[in-house]
Amino acid sequence: MPITNGRQATELAMDQITQIIKDNGFRRSPRARIDWTYIPNIGSFIITTIRANTAFTQTNVPINVLINAYQLDQQNVGFGILLGSMFHAWLHRAGFTDPKITGYFISECPMCTMRGFAPKNPVVPDNLFYQYFD
Ligand SMILES: [Zn+2]
Repeated sequence: MPITNGRQATELAMDQITQIIKDNGFRRSPRARIDWTYIPNIGSFIITTIRANTAFTQTNVPINVLINAYQLDQQNVGFGILLGSMFHAWLHRAGFTDPKITGYFISECPMCTMRGFAPKNPVVPDNLFYQYFD
């Protein structure tokens, strides 16, 4: 079934994320792991923030993520950025794939949370947000 608008896409994504969280909560998936690493940025280049492999199925998937604890220590990386990065990772667990460039749901949806649900500001380039996606 083709997706015809943003609302339909959002509802699909929320349904999938809800499903995998239910699967995890009711132990219908393998036990999830939250791992961490500590990888500083190289200059202004961000190595990783929150990472997850794209799942091959859309149900019974553990919501495994790898969190870069370095980013949690950065004063310029606020809650909204971390939330968007986690959301992007979970969309991977829900079966969505990159590319992580504008016009794609797996990027647009997390960027919306990173902006505090505000409309896009044409002065702020998308790459300021998606540098936090893995
Ligand atoms: Zn990604």
